[in-house]
This record gives sequence, structure tokens and C-alpha cells, in this order.
Amino acid sequence: MKRRTFLASALAGAALLGGCKREEKASFAISKRNKITIKLATSWPANFPIMGERVERFAKKVAQATDGDVVIKVFAKNLLVPALQVFDACSAGQIEAFHSGPYYWKGKNPAFALFGGFPFGFTSNEMGAWMLFGGGLELWRELYARYDLYPLLGGNTDVQMGGWFRKKITSLDDLKGLKMRIPGLGGEVMAKLGVNPILLPAGEIYTALDRGTIDATEWVGPALDIKMGFYKVAKYYYSGFHEPGSVLELTFNKKFWDGLPKDIQQIITSCSNELNTTMVYDFQDKNAKALQKLKKLGIHLQKWPPEIVKAAKKALMQVIEEQSAKSEDFKKVWDIIEPYWMQNREWSVLGLKNYLEMRDG
Ligand code: CA
Repeated sequence: MKRRTFLASALAGAALLGGCKREEKASFAISKRNKITIKLATSWPANFPIMGERVERFAKKVAQATDGDVVIKVFAKNLLVPALQVFDACSAGQIEAFHSGPYYWKGKNPAFALFGGFPFGFTSNEMGAWMLFGGGLELWRELYARYDLYPLLGGNTDVQMGGWFRKKITSLDDLKGLKMRIPGLGGEVMAKLGVNPILLPAGEIYTALDRGTIDATEWVGPALDIKMGFYKVAKYYYSGFHEPGSVLELTFNKKFWDGLPKDIQQIITSCSNELNTTMVYDFQDKNAKALQKLKKLGIHLQKWPPEIVKAAKKALMQVIEEQSAKSEDFKKVWDIIEPYWMQNREWSVLGLKNYLEMRDG
């Protein structure tokens, strides 16, 4: 029996037994509320695997959980708003919500990059812990409130691969002058190692790599990389340190969010928590499967030489210092991240790393 029908008959029964007056009975009536429509623009192409699919599923869950009271219309990139203007459009109230990644907005505030993750930073598990229990999400909301935005956790790509290289990299010298498509803090770290970081729209990366306009590119991991076809033109596929657990955001216009009924806020938050966790499992499942396919396509799986890893760690600390000197907000966020990062690393090594060594060593 549907909840409303059940309640209605229970109330009718109570009215008969108690001999309620007509007016009192009417006050118990449950009226269907007005529909709430939410325009949600994403930074992803239509039918984008995992990230796009999960957002569509989130919208369906919210519709089911509210019995159709809340309708979330998901728009792929550029349909309603250009991919990298969703932040501004939502801030201005032109759309109610967006799905994207906070590292895209580091030009607005360098600190936003840190909510997306950082090289040698949190794993997806550690990142979730920092967001929910280490003050991360609270701090993120505080900084986004200045733009009239309210972020919810919108998923995590899990550990990303270091990228596709046309030539094998054996030393720091091999990186000098190398042109690589790599955004964010990872790009800044690579720049300190002599790499020339290039930003290219997704649609142009393959051709640039094929023609040798760029020497290397990172993207995400096996599941999404295989669809881009990079393996056909760059055979060396490196494990990564630059995006160990990149956060995606499901962000609302704050005025709109604050005006939503509390139960709707709770339902959307619960559904976004589901989106957040299931996306990591989806990446795990599809990356594992795609890796098996890639291995049959003649690629060479590589690990970075220790001298590059060591130099990249040093470069990271330089980048952090420079950004902290330039931006008070960056420093504020980093000062909260750093002790939490150290504490979690110790536990993750003792628990997870040692286990993986025993399992796979
Ligand atoms: Ca990436």
C-alpha cells in the first residue's frame, strides 16, 4: 500500500472511532506539494561513462525518493551552459546545480584546487574521511558560500593513472621540455621537473598526441582512457601520483538550497552520498576490466623511476609553499589538510599498504 493511501485510510479510521468533527479531519489531509524542478548542468559530454551515468542515476533516485516531487533535469556540457562556466552560472542563479570538479575553479581561488585533491595526497578513502570527519566539507562550504554556492560530495575518480607517453621515461632528463597535457596542481609539479604542461579540450587530445604536437597526456584511468584511444599512439602507460583520489562536486546555488524543504535537502544529501560512494566502486570495477583489455593491445605498463618520484615530492612542497604565500585561503586549507594527511598516511601504510604487500608481494 502506498504511504499516502495508508495514512489517509488510517486517519479516516481514527476519525470514525474518535468522532472527529469535519474541520479537524480536514487538517490531517496530506496534500501533494508543488513540483520542484532543478536544472543541473555538468562539465561532461552526453552519456559520459561513469561520471555522467552516475549523475543521471542520482537524478532518478531523487525522483523516486520524493515520489516525483523533485525533478532534476541533467544537461550534458554545452547544452545549457559551457562546460567550464557551470560554476559562474550556478553562482548567478541561472541554474540550480552543477556536477563538475573543484580543481577547475582554482583561477577563482587557489584553495579550491585542494578540495579536488593534490599530488601524493589523499586516496579516495582518505579524502572521504577528511571531507566528512576532518572538517574538509565544512571548510569547502565556507569558501563556496562567498560565491553563493553549496557543495555536496559528487563522487571520486579513485586513483588516476600517470598518463600515456610516446617514449619511455627513464630519467629526469627525459622530462625536460616534454609537452604534456596535464591540468591542476599535478601540472604545476610536472612544470618544476621541466615538463611543459599544456591544457587542451578533451576532443583535441588524441589528435595532438598522434601528430606529436604533445608528447604525453594524462586523463583518468583504464576505463575512460581506453575510450579515448590513447593506446594507439602512445604505448607507455605510467602509474600515477598526481591525482590519487580526485573529488567531484554536486554543487547547488546556496539561496536555492537554503529555500528547499528540510526533507528534500535530506533526500538529496543522502542520494549524493550514494552517488559519491558508488562512483568509486564503479571506477574500481570498470578500471579492472579495462586494464585486461588494454594489456592485450600491446601497451607497456610503467612505474616512474625513483629519482622522478623523489623530485616530484620535492616539487610538490615548493608548489604548496608558493601557493600558500600567494593565497591566505590556500594556506588556511593546507594547514588543516597537512596534519590530517600525515596522520592518515600512517594508518593507511600500517593497514592497507602492508596488507597489499602481503597479498601481492
Ligand atoms: Ca586527470
